[in-house]
Amino acid sequence: MSLTEIQTRISAACTRVGRDAADVTLIAVSKVQPNERVQAVLEQGHRVFGENKVQEAAGKWPEFRDQFDGVELHLIGPLQTNKARQAMSLAQAIHAVDRPKLATTIARLAQETGNCPELFVQVNTGEEAQKAGVLPSDADGFLAECRTLDLPVVGLMCIPPVFEEPSLHFALLAKIAERNGLSGLSMGMSGDFEQAIALGATHIRVGSAIFGERDYAATA
Ligand SMILES: *Cc1c(COP(=O)(O)O)cnc(C)c1O
Repeated sequence: MSLTEIQTRISAACTRVGRDAADVTLIAVSKVQPNERVQAVLEQGHRVFGENKVQEAAGKWPEFRDQFDGVELHLIGPLQTNKARQAMSLAQAIHAVDRPKLATTIARLAQETGNCPELFVQVNTGEEAQKAGVLPSDADGFLAECRTLDLPVVGLMCIPPVFEEPSLHFALLAKIAERNGLSGLSMGMSGDFEQAIALGATHIRVGSAIFGERDYAATA
């Protein structure tokens, strides 16, 4: 696959459901990928990238930013409170806000620094024990807490369980977003972004379909 092929598939998926492709942001998930591959996608003009670890993002993006203007970095992985400050200075968006302690920490740092990335609240739509995110039944309450803290929450994010039909999870996320007046929907990955677009995704997170398979052994 390549960046242009993915862009073509995004356009086609939008056309099928009468959406404007400009309303879907493609986050190219560059975690674990060799720098040459990331550089190649930057050279093709793409500027929106996703990383799931603060440390890894800090290791490669300052340099890429020196080389390329207008990079927009999205942190899409679980965030530890003690990494929130670094995350907020690196990223333009954080997709995994999922607990009161993290929300209050981000609010305090936003006050202190006068800067806050756009935030997505992660919902554990499959109610999986090992997965981050608020439970669907806790989402409304948590979002109310975030509003009280004046956090710039723009939408919701989910990662459906591997062996379930993702559309059910995308539909659930869209429903929770709608009843909370949120327009952002961060959902859809390499294997299911077209379904996510059909159900209203505004941000799709696509890694391996753009860059190729991740070689965890090579980077360990
Ligand atoms: C790695 C990752 C992706 C991208 O996965 P692909 O299947 O390679 O597209 C998307 N979202 C999150 C949260 C990820 O950690």
